[in-house]
Amino acid sequence: MTRPRCCLTVCSAISKSEAICLFRRPLITCVTRRLHSLGLEDALAGVAARPEALVIRSAADDAVLARMPLGDSILRKYGAPYLCVHRVELHGVVLAAARALPRVALTPDARISQVVTLDKSVSVEASGAREWEGDGVVGADGLWSIVRERVVASTLPPRSTGHTAWRALVRRDTLPASLRSADVQVWLGEQLHAVDYPVRAGDWLSLVVIAESEMTATDPSEWDQDSSAAALIHVIGNRCDGVRPLIDAMPAWRAWTVNSHPPLAGADEMANERIALLGDAAHPMVPHLAQGAAMAIEDAVALADCVRDGGTASIPDAFARYAAARWQRNARVQAQAKRDEDIFHSSGTMRRARDAALRVLGARLLDVPWLYKG
Ligand SMILES: Cc1cc2nc3c(=O)[nH]c(=O)nc-3n(C[C@H](O)[C@H](O)[C@H](O)COP(=O)(O)OP(=O)(O)OC[C@H]3O[C@@H](n4cnc5c(N)ncnc54)[C@H](O)[C@@H]3O)c2cc1C
Repeated sequence: MTRPRCCLTVCSAISKSEAICLFRRPLITCVTRRLHSLGLEDALAGVAARPEALVIRSAADDAVLARMPLGDSILRKYGAPYLCVHRVELHGVVLAAARALPRVALTPDARISQVVTLDKSVSVEASGAREWEGDGVVGADGLWSIVRERVVASTLPPRSTGHTAWRALVRRDTLPASLRSADVQVWLGEQLHAVDYPVRAGDWLSLVVIAESEMTATDPSEWDQDSSAAALIHVIGNRCDGVRPLIDAMPAWRAWTVNSHPPLAGADEMANERIALLGDAAHPMVPHLAQGAAMAIEDAVALADCVRDGGTASIPDAFARYAAARWQRNARVQAQAKRDEDIFHSSGTMRRARDAALRVLGARLLDVPWLYKG
């Protein structure tokens, strides 16, 4: 059995191909600030796109409802930039930094099957009869976390939120000029919304359409499926005509079932003695606020600070301080993401009131200082 001095982290394989807009609507600068504090500013700037504006549109007819400047204006206001980054490239930046740290040992292709609490340590067992023992374990193993049940005793499997997310990526130079937006654009429609944003230093464009519609698969291995524009149009009909030219221009689609857990109810759902959770393992959220990965990164930085401050002898104390520091903000973001669903997907009088408010208040309605300053 291998016995590292400090924490074992069950976490990301570097294999995802989807894009993440770290600071989409509402823009969030707290995560770029944290990544910069880790010395990743230059590496991030090399792969990220820096959109100039957030533009809210009607999904039905493409009319502009509101606009908020990003770029330098956000940098001035929050002291950090608003960036869109492809997940693989973000992983690449973080992986390179981790590899450069002499105290970090990476073991790829280790699927953890069990976590066992010992007297003054924890061990994890993995495929291939491998086993490690350490002072603590951090479960960063996502929505279908197997570490979670060691912290949240009453946890049930994640449940579908009733949404499917269709995702597509395209090179911007293959699109007609009228579709090559360099902004973050959000189209609001009845029971759906769509978002596009530039990634890969602005060379590619990512489009996500999230609709209230359930795919049948709930098996973790089936949540990400091949799809097509035809399948998407079959579900959304003409409710998204304003986005139709962009939808039709996408070369390929994948469809994701959106699953989640109920929001965090207390610090004890993020850590228990020598086991801590971070990111989706602790607090998955509907993707309407585009903050899941952002909160996972905030968690990681907070956890590192707590462990560093406390030293390895007091891992349970450090994990408890981490959970106490993080759970309320994560729960608030989970709740806001859920509230956004009602606003984004509304119809009738509520939709008309929303659109009027967006037209009148514009950027004032889109700015969420408690989130961006955090
Ligand atoms: C449609 C959609 C759009 C989104 N858009 C955004 C966005 O724009 N911005 C944003 O911030 N967030 C966004 N999110 C949310 C974001 O994708 C997640 O919140 C984020 O990926 C969570 O990161 P994580 O590291 O906690 O988990 P994950 O990214 O799920 O990583 C967990 C990793 O653990 C590994 N793993 C799992 N089990 C084991 C095991 N037993 N042993 C070893 N390894 C294991 C997995 O292979 C995986 O690589 C979106 C989500 C969806 C569904």
